[in-house]
Amino acid sequence: MTTTMRNRWTRRSLTAQAMGEIDPVTKGVVPPLHLSTTYVRDEDNGYSSGFVYGRPDNQTTREAEAVLAMLEDAEAGALLFASGSAAATAVFLALSPGDHVVASRVMYWALRNWLATEGARWGLAVEFVESDDLAALARAVRPGATKLVWIETPSNPLWTITDIAAAADIAHRAGARLAVDSTCASPVHTRPLALGADIVMHSATKVLNGHSDVIAGALCAREDDAFWNAVKTVRKGQGGILGPFESYLLMRGMRTLHVRQERQSASALALAERLAAHPLVARALYPGLPQHPGHDLAARQMENGFGYMLSIQVRGGEAAAIGTAAHVELFKRATSLGGVESLIEHRASIEGPGSPCPVDLLRLSTGLEDVDDLFADLDRALRAGHA
Ligand SMILES: *Cc1c(COP(=O)(O)O)cnc(C)c1O
Repeated sequence: MTTTMRNRWTRRSLTAQAMGEIDPVTKGVVPPLHLSTTYVRDEDNGYSSGFVYGRPDNQTTREAEAVLAMLEDAEAGALLFASGSAAATAVFLALSPGDHVVASRVMYWALRNWLATEGARWGLAVEFVESDDLAALARAVRPGATKLVWIETPSNPLWTITDIAAAADIAHRAGARLAVDSTCASPVHTRPLALGADIVMHSATKVLNGHSDVIAGALCAREDDAFWNAVKTVRKGQGGILGPFESYLLMRGMRTLHVRQERQSASALALAERLAAHPLVARALYPGLPQHPGHDLAARQMENGFGYMLSIQVRGGEAAAIGTAAHVELFKRATSLGGVESLIEHRASIEGPGSPCPVDLLRLSTGLEDVDDLFADLDRALRAGHA
């Protein structure tokens, strides 16, 4: 696709057509799946196609990366990984032992654990802060020593909002980069690079693919600099690239990203409003609710809604929360998020000791089911869980 065409159409249109590439051989509107692991050398010993071997590169993966790079306005492009965790850890492994890292305290739990254990073993000095508190963030960065600020917004599972533009400013003044885990916002709601971030990470397992049938991760970068090159070297060296089948499925999933995300967010808002008023719910946590502490910032920083994720704190504490989850029928009791089916999870059970997650909290991932059915299911489960 030419640059003019890319500039003429909206992100929604380009995503629906996965960049509109037509297969030159058959004129098919769906690009073929490229499975070859190796490529023939030219007679003059060169590789005129640009492809040498399947571990550093794959055409189907490149096509899915082009969609993501367009969605995030990533001038340096996107890299797909075998999981969100592979993508996130590639950023940390591209740093050097001794580097100081500041990260959100409330963030994806498995990544927080990796940073505190494996990241520390790699030699990173990691400091966790409440990144929604900009003064605390500014105090934590050390000019010259801090190389990376890592934030997640909205952050799992309390959905606190961090000011991306302000965090970028704090990071840059200290000589550090800002990376944003934007999994729960997706490019439909937030575009961190446009707000000043340097790197955006997604667990593409979640709403980008959207069908709970692919494990994948992505990084998008603004600048094609030495650090981005170091990230590429980590992916190549560790063999972390996303396989062609998964890239193909991801591209198919992303074609409907906007329509899924907007519907799921509208349902999440409706659920949050009704649950906030429910007699058996102590608190509903959702950035789209005016009473949420990050609401005003979210209203400025997010567009097209506030996301498909919310949490509730159940009256009656941990037993009532687990009892509620035990009685759902339409919601599925499972970890993960962003699929077309709604999921419910008692997070404290999976996060274990040291988690900032309250024990009465249930995390909800809103899918595409009828929103009245979803509310009726929760209402019934809340009553049965308290019986
Ligand atoms: C799921 C998730 C991850 C990890 O991604 P995987 O694809 O499971 O490795 C990271 N961050 C957030 C916010 C997530 O929800």
